[in-house]
Amino acid sequence: MDLTYSPDDLQFREKTRRWFQANVPHGELKTLDERKQWHRKMYDAGYVGMHWPKEHGGQGWGPMRMAIASDEMARANAPAAINGLGIGFIGPTIIIHGTDWQKQRYLKKILTAEEIWCQLYSEPNSGSDLASLRTRAEDQGDHFLVNGQKIWTSSGHIADFGILLARTDPKVPKHKGISCFLFNMRQPGVDVRPLKQITGGAEFNEVFMTNATVDKQNLIGRLGQGWEIAQTTLGYERGGNSLGRVTRYKAAFDRLVQATRKLKRHGRPLIEDPVVRTKMGRLYAELEVQRYAALRVLSALEKGAEPGAASSITKLSYSEFEKRYYELCQEILGPYGQVTEGGGLEEFTLDIDSSSGVRGTWAYAYLWSRAGTIYSGSSEIQKNVIGERVLGLPKEVRVDRMKA
Ligand SMILES: Cc1cc2nc3c(=O)[nH]c(=O)nc-3n(C[C@H](O)[C@H](O)[C@H](O)COP(=O)(O)OP(=O)(O)OC[C@H]3O[C@@H](n4cnc5c(N)ncnc54)[C@H](O)[C@@H]3O)c2cc1C
Repeated sequence: MDLTYSPDDLQFREKTRRWFQANVPHGELKTLDERKQWHRKMYDAGYVGMHWPKEHGGQGWGPMRMAIASDEMARANAPAAINGLGIGFIGPTIIIHGTDWQKQRYLKKILTAEEIWCQLYSEPNSGSDLASLRTRAEDQGDHFLVNGQKIWTSSGHIADFGILLARTDPKVPKHKGISCFLFNMRQPGVDVRPLKQITGGAEFNEVFMTNATVDKQNLIGRLGQGWEIAQTTLGYERGGNSLGRVTRYKAAFDRLVQATRKLKRHGRPLIEDPVVRTKMGRLYAELEVQRYAALRVLSALEKGAEPGAASSITKLSYSEFEKRYYELCQEILGPYGQVTEGGGLEEFTLDIDSSSGVRGTWAYAYLWSRAGTIYSGSSEIQKNVIGERVLGLPKEVRVDRMKA
């Protein structure tokens, strides 16, 4: 793998660093409007939709430029763009599988965040086994009638549209009877109910659809092609932005070092305690492993490799690391890990965007870190993908426990 930057890359990094230093907002963006404004500013400067082709309003940048930009965003502690699902993989899916009308109608407004998107895949009994989903879309001539329930819909409460998987043919094998739609969330018959999470936040939702409709022109790809289209979105989702993520971990690590310099145990700074030093050393070593893994992915992408099944390795590795990481931070900080803003204890808060995009307590980051091992396919599912599709091992054998 090639780990060197060209003079062009270095110049681009310098320019990007200057832009973020000059423009990054100070303090947390609290309202949706404030987040949209920041999004718009980044869009106007060319830092949104960097991987999208130019003809669809993006920058057409390669993986290296994108990685440098996301690295600089993380370094500047810049809040993430809004509409992450739309920009990260729903837009690119429309670019690959959509009709000219769909591209014309939706893409620009995804980029500018004028319309927010969500992903309507999971159902109460269909998560890992997504192909068993039961939401139905029945052909009514010029439109489909949609009935069913989705769950864990991130940003569903603020979304204008969703990419929807629904069953259009119950008679064929389960993978073949699913179709994919661009679904209007702001219509009668759509009931969105936020779900409160262990973190105290409520970023995801249940979505009930009762006789909701979707026009034929909003079918994406062919009827029955939904499963194949879902694979496109999941490949993008798991590929992720690994280098920026590592830079954010490193910012959290620097914050941890700062806190352990201030905190005292038996009259001595915590950072001088040999047990604490060993733990922090281990974290740092793991962080470096993550950094090189991210660079390896970047190097492969630069050579034109598709994210594909191998992106499961990155996803499994960073999400399990993140859990260990924030757990160790909790161990080291003890009760200070619970500190929120104010009271003269600001230096013990996690004043950076953790991977959830939320600033605040270490406890929040710790609780949120469980999510990474579940969304976009749980760790066990990633292991299956790696075993079967990367290593070529035999397919998993499903045991019916009732019969066994
Ligand atoms: C923060 C967050 C955001 C999310 N956002 C969205 C969203 O926007 N849109 C959306 O559609 N979904 C979303 N999801 C849902 C997510 O995709 C599902 O939670 C995930 O696919 C797992 O499905 P499940 O929760 O039904 O668990 P289950 O599939 O019921 O799994 C339960 C347990 O069994 C294990 N398991 C299941 N099958 C196997 C197997 N074959 N072999 C070994 N172990 C197995 C799993 O690993 C897990 O530990 C989100 C989830 C989270 C946590």
